[in-house]
Amino acid sequence: MLTQNANTGRPAPDRARSSKLYRRGQRVFPAGVTRATIEKDPLPIYLERGEGAYVVDVDGNRLLDLNNNFTTLVHGHGFGPVVEAIGDVLRQGTCFANPMEHEIALAELLVSRIPAVEHVRFVNSGTEAVMYALKAARAFTGRSSIVRFEGAYHGAYDWAEAGQNGVGESGVSGRRLPKLGYTGAPKAIADSVIVLDFNDVSGLEAAIDPIAADIAAILVDPMPSRAGLLHPSTDFVAALTATARKHGILIVADEVLNLRQGFAGASARYGLEPDLVAAGKIIGGGFPIGAIGGRADVMAVFGTDENAPLVSQGGTFSANPVSMIAGRIAMEALTPDAFDRLEDLGDRLRNGLTQAISERGAPFSVSGAASLFRIHPKKEVPATYRSAQMSAQEVAIMRALSRHFLTHGILLPFGAAACLSTPMTAAEMDRVIAVFDDFLAQHEPSDGDKQ
Ligand code: PMP
Repeated sequence: MLTQNANTGRPAPDRARSSKLYRRGQRVFPAGVTRATIEKDPLPIYLERGEGAYVVDVDGNRLLDLNNNFTTLVHGHGFGPVVEAIGDVLRQGTCFANPMEHEIALAELLVSRIPAVEHVRFVNSGTEAVMYALKAARAFTGRSSIVRFEGAYHGAYDWAEAGQNGVGESGVSGRRLPKLGYTGAPKAIADSVIVLDFNDVSGLEAAIDPIAADIAAILVDPMPSRAGLLHPSTDFVAALTATARKHGILIVADEVLNLRQGFAGASARYGLEPDLVAAGKIIGGGFPIGAIGGRADVMAVFGTDENAPLVSQGGTFSANPVSMIAGRIAMEALTPDAFDRLEDLGDRLRNGLTQAISERGAPFSVSGAASLFRIHPKKEVPATYRSAQMSAQEVAIMRALSRHFLTHGILLPFGAAACLSTPMTAAEMDRVIAVFDDFLAQHEPSDGDKQ
């Protein structure tokens, strides 16, 4: 049943079943849900199923999915070739203690596409991929500190999550220490994580030079999404590379999200030459996965024919055939043409949104590339985490925007990158632009506010 939205007069979607499920969830889950990232404004929307570019919620509302499980589903929901292949796998067994050909095939695909990847190890999540990449960098260099960039999300490994919410008090050395991931986290973590500003060239060199001998790795997402989907400047990539090479520091590219930026991934796109790459999300075809890839001599810390591993990497479900087969099939369907098509759709969308903003003189901007975009309640596209940070008023505007999209049948993630999937068409892009323009029309600044 559709009720009337009090503000817009449009029919508001019914959420009675979601509301009921949420009440049930509140009895068994802390905060009512099983992931901190579930959006609850005004309440979690429980889904019944997905259909290509769309999801259908338990109240029967059909929504264009610009979230795609936080950018994981590059082919949208229920991708036919994966569904067919997995049906057989389920009957033949879903996990074994022995290796299978499937894992070699997916590794071969990654090695053939990503220039920095010579050898691969599979795990089950992006968190694990980043964790093992950092352990590998430490074992290879014999050093323990990590440099990372403020506000970037790298999963839940203690040393990777320190700094994802910025920096706090100053330490003994005068250095601003990262905020740790959780209350009670060992303070020692902060001593070995150096948080720098993304795109800050001089700050990077100045901070690293005096303590370089302790630094194992620079952990960098080429376009950090949670920090603001920040575009890397060419100078920044060059300075990062030069500083790392000068001091024998390894570059660990976290491409868990941004591998979807191109056939060869995001580092290749932006001229970054990492020693190790952490991957995940799209390479699992909708199933749990993570991968660590990189230079063969560095990857040798996971063991060689002659030597025991310096870093022991296992994992009960690592390289399970479901994720391996689904991942290979999903990735094979991502041909250079498929990437070009996604890029064209992304350009159409970003350009359309930007044009609507400039025509209405609205205080918004759009960042992103390839199949990714993020709308900011800021006149200038942010280049750093600090400049992407929202005031309370800006948060309220973005919440209103997400609700507006929802009312018009579109799921737009709040505070994370939105993304496209291959079943989407130009018509969907134009619809997103029109709905955004409608929001801007309703929130048009008064003449005095325009600049
Ligand atoms: N790194 C980045 C850049 C990510 O976006 C994510 C997940 N959003 C992770 C690491 C962690 O991946 P997972 O959720 O699979 O553990």
